[in-house]
Amino acid sequence: MVRVAVITGPGRVEIREEPQPVPEPDELLVAVDACGLCTLERRLFSGEKRLYPVAAGHEVAGRVVAVGDAVRDLAGAPRIGELVTADFLTRCGSCSACRRGRTAMCKRPQGGALSDGTITMGGGLTDMVKVRARQTWACGDAPVEHAAMGEPLACVAHSIRLSGVRAGDRVAIIGVGYMGRLHLAATRALGAASVGAVDISDVRRQDARRANASWVATPDEALQRAGDQDVVFVTAGVPGSLELAVSLCDAGGTVVLYGAFPRDHRATVDPDALHHHEITVVGVYSHEPEDWRVAAGWIRSGALAGDLDALVTARFQLDAVADALTLVAGSPVYRVLVGG
Ligand SMILES: [Zn+2]
Ligand SMILES: [Zn+2]
Repeated sequence: MVRVAVITGPGRVEIREEPQPVPEPDELLVAVDACGLCTLERRLFSGEKRLYPVAAGHEVAGRVVAVGDAVRDLAGAPRIGELVTADFLTRCGSCSACRRGRTAMCKRPQGGALSDGTITMGGGLTDMVKVRARQTWACGDAPVEHAAMGEPLACVAHSIRLSGVRAGDRVAIIGVGYMGRLHLAATRALGAASVGAVDISDVRRQDARRANASWVATPDEALQRAGDQDVVFVTAGVPGSLELAVSLCDAGGTVVLYGAFPRDHRATVDPDALHHHEITVVGVYSHEPEDWRVAAGWIRSGALAGDLDALVTARFQLDAVADALTLVAGSPVYRVLVGG
Protein backbone atom coordinates (compact mmCIF):
# COMPACT_ATOMS: atom_id res chain seq x y z
CA MET A 1 0.00 0.00 0.00
CA VAL A 2 1.02 3.63 -0.45
CA ARG A 3 -0.09 6.75 1.38
CA VAL A 4 -1.93 9.53 -0.42
CA ALA A 5 -3.13 12.86 0.97
CA VAL A 6 -6.80 13.70 0.30
CA ILE A 7 -8.23 17.17 0.98
CA THR A 8 -11.72 16.50 2.33
CA GLY A 9 -12.93 20.04 3.08
CA PRO A 10 -11.73 23.52 3.96
CA GLY A 11 -8.84 23.10 6.41
CA ARG A 12 -9.15 19.30 6.35
CA VAL A 13 -6.74 16.78 4.90
CA GLU A 14 -6.30 13.09 5.63
CA ILE A 15 -3.82 10.40 4.67
CA ARG A 16 -5.44 7.41 2.98
CA GLU A 17 -4.01 4.12 1.81
CA GLU A 18 -4.07 3.04 -1.81
CA PRO A 19 -2.83 -0.09 -3.56
CA GLN A 20 0.65 0.44 -4.95
CA PRO A 21 0.34 1.64 -8.57
CA VAL A 22 1.53 -0.78 -11.26
CA PRO A 23 3.10 0.87 -14.32
CA GLU A 24 1.77 0.15 -17.81
CA PRO A 25 4.33 -0.82 -20.49
CA ASP A 26 4.95 2.84 -21.41
CA GLU A 27 5.02 4.10 -17.82
CA LEU A 28 7.51 4.56 -15.00
CA LEU A 29 6.91 4.13 -11.30
CA VAL A 30 8.31 7.09 -9.37
CA ALA A 31 8.91 7.18 -5.61
CA VAL A 32 7.90 10.74 -4.72
CA ASP A 33 10.53 12.67 -2.77
CA ALA A 34 8.92 16.09 -3.00
CA CYS A 35 5.69 17.63 -4.25
CA GLY A 36 5.26 21.41 -4.38
CA LEU A 37 2.08 23.08 -3.16
CA CYS A 38 0.70 25.36 -5.86
CA THR A 39 -2.20 27.84 -5.98
CA LEU A 40 -4.70 25.03 -6.58
CA GLU A 41 -3.79 23.25 -3.35
CA ARG A 42 -3.89 26.51 -1.40
CA ARG A 43 -7.34 27.35 -2.77
CA LEU A 44 -8.70 23.86 -2.08
CA PHE A 45 -7.43 23.85 1.50
CA SER A 46 -8.53 27.42 2.23
CA GLY A 47 -12.01 26.76 0.81
CA GLU A 48 -11.71 29.32 -2.02
CA LYS A 49 -12.25 26.40 -4.38
CA ARG A 50 -14.66 23.77 -3.09
CA LEU A 51 -14.29 20.40 -4.72
CA TYR A 52 -14.05 17.59 -2.18
CA PRO A 53 -12.73 15.07 -1.59
CA VAL A 54 -9.76 15.52 -3.92
CA ALA A 55 -6.22 14.14 -4.15
CA ALA A 56 -4.20 17.16 -5.29
CA GLY A 57 -0.49 17.83 -5.88
CA HIS A 58 0.97 18.13 -9.39
CA GLU A 59 4.55 19.39 -8.86
CA VAL A 60 6.26 16.07 -8.36
CA ALA A 61 9.86 14.92 -8.30
CA GLY A 62 11.31 11.59 -7.26
CA ARG A 63 13.37 8.55 -8.20
CA VAL A 64 12.37 5.99 -10.80
CA VAL A 65 11.81 2.63 -9.08
CA ALA A 66 10.28 0.60 -11.91
CA VAL A 67 10.17 0.90 -15.69
CA GLY A 68 7.55 -0.52 -18.08
CA ASP A 69 8.63 -3.04 -20.71
CA ALA A 70 8.08 -0.76 -23.69
CA VAL A 71 10.43 1.96 -22.43
CA ARG A 72 13.11 -0.08 -20.70
CA ASP A 73 16.59 0.83 -22.00
CA LEU A 74 15.03 3.21 -24.51
CA ALA A 75 17.44 6.03 -25.42
CA GLY A 76 16.33 9.20 -23.66
CA ALA A 77 13.82 7.51 -21.35
CA PRO A 78 14.68 7.79 -17.64
CA ARG A 79 16.10 4.68 -16.00
CA ILE A 80 15.75 3.08 -12.59
CA GLY A 81 17.40 5.21 -9.91
CA GLU A 82 17.26 8.47 -11.88
CA LEU A 83 15.77 11.62 -10.37
CA VAL A 84 12.91 12.86 -12.53
CA THR A 85 10.41 15.68 -12.61
CA ALA A 86 6.96 14.65 -13.81
CA ASP A 87 4.38 16.24 -16.09
CA PHE A 88 0.87 15.22 -14.96
CA LEU A 89 -1.04 17.09 -17.64
CA THR A 90 -3.08 14.91 -19.96
CA ARG A 91 -3.22 15.86 -23.62
CA CYS A 92 -5.81 14.06 -25.72
CA GLY A 93 -3.93 14.47 -29.01
CA SER A 94 -7.21 14.46 -30.94
CA CYS A 95 -8.82 17.87 -30.34
CA SER A 96 -8.28 20.93 -32.50
CA ALA A 97 -5.86 22.50 -29.98
CA CYS A 98 -3.73 19.36 -29.67
CA ARG A 99 -3.66 18.96 -33.46
CA ARG A 100 -2.16 22.43 -33.76
CA GLY A 101 0.48 21.58 -31.17
CA ARG A 102 -1.17 23.85 -28.60
CA THR A 103 -1.57 20.98 -26.15
CA ALA A 104 -1.67 23.30 -23.14
CA MET A 105 -5.13 24.21 -24.42
CA CYS A 106 -6.34 20.60 -24.79
CA LYS A 107 -10.12 20.59 -24.85
CA ARG A 108 -10.43 17.13 -23.34
CA PRO A 109 -8.26 16.88 -20.23
CA GLN A 110 -8.72 13.50 -18.60
CA GLY A 111 -8.97 13.31 -14.83
CA GLY A 112 -8.03 10.35 -12.70
CA ALA A 113 -9.44 8.72 -9.59
CA LEU A 114 -8.24 6.83 -6.53
CA SER A 115 -9.45 3.26 -5.95
CA ASP A 116 -12.39 4.57 -3.85
CA GLY A 117 -13.48 6.94 -6.63
CA THR A 118 -11.99 10.10 -5.10
CA ILE A 119 -11.03 12.38 -7.96
CA THR A 120 -7.37 13.23 -8.43
CA MET A 121 -6.04 16.60 -9.50
CA GLY A 122 -2.49 15.37 -9.70
CA GLY A 123 -2.59 13.06 -6.71
CA GLY A 124 1.10 13.78 -6.19
CA LEU A 125 0.97 14.09 -2.40
CA THR A 126 1.77 10.42 -2.10
CA ASP A 127 4.57 7.87 -1.80
CA MET A 128 4.46 6.64 -5.36
CA VAL A 129 3.01 7.60 -8.73
CA LYS A 130 3.01 6.05 -12.17
CA VAL A 131 3.66 8.42 -15.05
CA ARG A 132 4.07 7.95 -18.78
CA ALA A 133 7.76 7.76 -19.57
CA ARG A 134 7.38 10.50 -22.17
CA GLN A 135 6.10 12.80 -19.41
CA THR A 136 9.09 12.35 -17.13
CA TRP A 137 12.26 14.34 -17.42
CA ALA A 138 15.59 13.34 -15.92
CA CYS A 139 17.18 15.94 -13.63
CA GLY A 140 20.69 14.54 -13.25
CA ASP A 141 22.40 15.44 -9.98
CA ALA A 142 20.14 18.39 -9.19
CA PRO A 143 18.66 18.62 -5.68
CA VAL A 144 15.18 17.13 -5.41
CA GLU A 145 13.85 20.55 -4.31
CA HIS A 146 14.83 21.92 -7.72
CA ALA A 147 13.39 18.92 -9.57
CA ALA A 148 10.07 19.52 -7.79
CA MET A 149 9.96 22.92 -9.49
CA GLY A 150 9.73 21.29 -12.93
CA GLU A 151 6.05 22.08 -13.48
CA PRO A 152 6.20 25.79 -12.58
CA LEU A 153 9.44 26.10 -14.54
CA ALA A 154 7.76 24.47 -17.54
CA CYS A 155 5.04 27.13 -17.25
CA VAL A 156 7.75 29.80 -17.23
CA ALA A 157 9.54 28.23 -20.20
CA HIS A 158 6.19 28.33 -22.03
CA SER A 159 5.67 31.97 -21.06
CA ILE A 160 9.17 32.90 -22.19
CA ARG A 161 8.82 31.00 -25.46
CA LEU A 162 5.53 32.65 -26.37
CA SER A 163 6.88 36.07 -25.32
CA GLY A 164 9.68 35.96 -27.86
CA VAL A 165 12.04 37.57 -25.30
CA ARG A 166 15.67 37.61 -26.41
CA ALA A 167 19.08 38.38 -24.95
CA GLY A 168 19.51 42.13 -24.70
CA ASP A 169 15.84 42.84 -24.04
CA ARG A 170 14.72 45.09 -21.22
CA VAL A 171 12.29 43.09 -19.12
CA ALA A 172 9.86 44.06 -16.39
CA ILE A 173 7.91 41.65 -14.20
CA ILE A 174 4.73 42.80 -12.50
CA GLY A 175 4.29 40.64 -9.40
CA VAL A 176 7.34 38.95 -7.90
CA GLY A 177 5.82 36.16 -5.89
CA TYR A 178 7.00 32.67 -6.72
CA MET A 179 6.09 32.70 -10.43
CA GLY A 180 7.44 36.23 -10.91
CA ARG A 181 10.72 35.21 -9.28
CA LEU A 182 11.03 32.22 -11.62
CA HIS A 183 10.52 34.62 -14.55
CA LEU A 184 13.20 36.88 -13.08
CA ALA A 185 15.66 34.00 -12.76
CA ALA A 186 14.98 32.63 -16.23
CA THR A 187 15.06 35.93 -18.13
CA ARG A 188 18.33 36.92 -16.42
CA ALA A 189 19.85 33.55 -17.33
CA LEU A 190 18.68 34.13 -20.89
CA GLY A 191 20.69 37.33 -21.13
CA ALA A 192 18.12 40.07 -20.61
CA ALA A 193 19.76 43.51 -20.52
CA SER A 194 17.80 44.34 -17.38
CA VAL A 195 15.02 42.73 -15.38
CA GLY A 196 12.94 44.98 -13.16
CA ALA A 197 10.48 43.86 -10.50
CA VAL A 198 7.20 45.60 -9.70
CA ASP A 199 5.28 44.61 -6.58
CA ILE A 200 3.07 46.23 -3.96
CA SER A 201 4.83 44.26 -1.18
CA ASP A 202 7.94 45.77 0.46
CA VAL A 203 9.15 42.31 1.40
CA ARG A 204 8.79 40.94 -2.12
CA ARG A 205 10.57 43.96 -3.60
CA GLN A 206 13.43 43.52 -1.11
CA ASP A 207 13.61 39.80 -1.88
CA ALA A 208 13.67 40.54 -5.63
CA ARG A 209 16.46 43.06 -5.10
CA ARG A 210 18.42 40.38 -3.24
CA ALA A 211 17.74 38.05 -6.18
CA ASN A 212 19.51 40.51 -8.49
CA ALA A 213 16.58 42.38 -9.96
CA SER A 214 18.03 45.34 -11.89
CA TRP A 215 15.47 47.65 -10.32
CA VAL A 216 12.44 47.36 -8.08
CA ALA A 217 9.38 49.59 -7.92
CA THR A 218 5.86 49.89 -6.62
CA PRO A 219 3.27 50.08 -9.43
CA ASP A 220 3.21 53.89 -9.06
CA GLU A 221 7.00 54.19 -9.09
CA ALA A 222 7.16 51.92 -12.13
CA LEU A 223 5.32 54.55 -14.20
CA GLN A 224 8.57 56.55 -14.21
CA ARG A 225 9.82 53.84 -16.57
CA ALA A 226 6.89 54.14 -18.98
CA GLY A 227 7.91 53.36 -22.55
CA ASP A 228 11.22 51.79 -21.49
CA GLN A 229 10.62 48.04 -21.62
CA ASP A 230 10.73 45.46 -24.40
CA VAL A 231 8.85 42.66 -22.65
CA VAL A 232 6.60 42.95 -19.61
CA PHE A 233 5.40 39.80 -17.82
CA VAL A 234 2.26 40.18 -15.71
CA THR A 235 2.26 37.45 -13.06
CA ALA A 236 -0.12 39.37 -10.77
CA GLY A 237 -3.44 39.48 -12.58
CA VAL A 238 -4.94 42.35 -10.62
CA PRO A 239 -7.00 45.26 -11.94
CA GLY A 240 -4.62 47.86 -13.38
CA SER A 241 -1.76 45.49 -14.16
CA LEU A 242 -2.53 45.13 -17.89
CA GLU A 243 -2.77 48.91 -18.24
CA LEU A 244 0.51 49.36 -16.35
CA ALA A 245 2.20 46.71 -18.50
CA VAL A 246 1.10 48.38 -21.74
CA SER A 247 2.32 51.75 -20.52
CA LEU A 248 5.73 50.30 -19.61
CA CYS A 249 6.26 48.96 -23.16
CA ASP A 250 8.49 50.68 -25.68
CA ALA A 251 7.26 50.61 -29.29
CA GLY A 252 7.37 47.03 -30.55
CA GLY A 253 7.08 45.72 -27.03
CA THR A 254 5.23 42.68 -25.75
CA VAL A 255 2.94 42.23 -22.75
CA VAL A 256 2.61 38.68 -21.49
CA LEU A 257 -0.46 37.86 -19.40
CA TYR A 258 0.76 35.00 -17.25
CA GLY A 259 -1.25 35.32 -14.04
CA ALA A 260 -4.99 34.69 -13.81
CA PHE A 261 -7.24 37.76 -13.61
CA PRO A 262 -10.57 37.93 -11.76
CA ARG A 263 -13.15 36.46 -14.15
CA ASP A 264 -15.41 39.52 -14.25
CA HIS A 265 -12.62 42.08 -14.59
CA ARG A 266 -12.57 44.29 -17.69
CA ALA A 267 -9.51 46.35 -18.60
CA THR A 268 -9.19 49.54 -20.60
CA VAL A 269 -6.48 49.65 -23.21
CA ASP A 270 -6.09 52.03 -26.10
CA PRO A 271 -6.29 49.93 -29.28
CA ASP A 272 -4.94 52.75 -31.42
CA ALA A 273 -1.81 52.89 -29.21
CA LEU A 274 -1.38 49.13 -29.62
CA HIS A 275 -1.64 49.62 -33.38
CA HIS A 276 0.59 52.66 -33.71
CA HIS A 277 3.30 51.32 -31.41
CA GLU A 278 3.09 47.68 -32.48
CA ILE A 279 2.44 46.44 -28.96
CA THR A 280 1.68 42.73 -28.71
CA VAL A 281 -0.42 41.30 -25.89
CA VAL A 282 0.02 37.54 -25.41
CA GLY A 283 -1.93 35.24 -23.12
CA VAL A 284 0.02 32.27 -21.78
CA TYR A 285 -1.24 29.31 -19.80
CA SER A 286 0.23 26.03 -18.64
CA HIS A 287 2.92 24.20 -20.62
CA GLU A 288 3.74 21.87 -23.47
CA PRO A 289 6.24 19.02 -23.74
CA GLU A 290 8.97 21.17 -25.34
CA ASP A 291 8.68 23.54 -22.38
CA TRP A 292 9.37 20.63 -20.04
CA ARG A 293 12.53 19.91 -21.93
CA VAL A 294 13.72 23.47 -21.30
CA ALA A 295 12.62 23.35 -17.65
CA ALA A 296 14.48 20.09 -17.07
CA GLY A 297 17.51 21.64 -18.78
CA TRP A 298 17.45 24.58 -16.37
CA ILE A 299 17.19 22.20 -13.40
CA ARG A 300 19.78 19.73 -14.57
CA SER A 301 22.39 22.30 -15.62
CA GLY A 302 22.18 24.20 -12.36
CA ALA A 303 21.75 27.41 -14.38
CA LEU A 304 19.14 28.70 -11.91
CA ALA A 305 20.37 26.83 -8.82
CA GLY A 306 20.89 29.84 -6.55
CA ASP A 307 17.51 31.28 -7.48
CA LEU A 308 15.69 28.00 -6.91
CA ASP A 309 17.37 27.51 -3.51
CA ALA A 310 16.12 30.91 -2.41
CA LEU A 311 12.54 29.97 -3.32
CA VAL A 312 12.20 26.93 -1.05
CA THR A 313 10.23 28.31 1.90
CA ALA A 314 9.85 25.03 3.79
CA ARG A 315 9.84 21.28 3.39
CA PHE A 316 7.58 18.81 5.22
CA GLN A 317 7.24 15.04 5.43
CA LEU A 318 4.07 13.59 3.89
CA ASP A 319 2.73 12.81 7.40
CA ALA A 320 2.87 16.55 8.14
CA VAL A 321 0.93 17.58 5.01
CA ALA A 322 -1.69 19.35 7.19
CA ASP A 323 1.04 21.63 8.61
CA ALA A 324 2.33 22.32 5.09
CA LEU A 325 -1.13 23.25 3.76
CA THR A 326 -1.84 25.39 6.84
CA LEU A 327 1.38 27.32 6.23
CA VAL A 328 0.53 27.84 2.55
CA ALA A 329 -3.05 28.91 3.25
CA GLY A 330 -2.09 31.28 6.06
CA SER A 331 0.95 33.25 4.93
CA PRO A 332 2.78 34.43 1.82
CA VAL A 333 5.28 31.77 0.78
CA TYR A 334 7.36 30.98 -2.27
CA ARG A 335 7.35 27.16 -2.43
CA VAL A 336 6.46 24.67 0.26
CA LEU A 337 7.39 21.09 -0.55
CA VAL A 338 5.86 17.91 0.85
CA GLY A 339 7.11 14.36 0.60
CA GLY A 340 9.35 11.61 1.80
ZN1 LIG B 1 1.67 24.21 -10.28
ZN1 LIG C 1 -6.59 17.71 -26.84
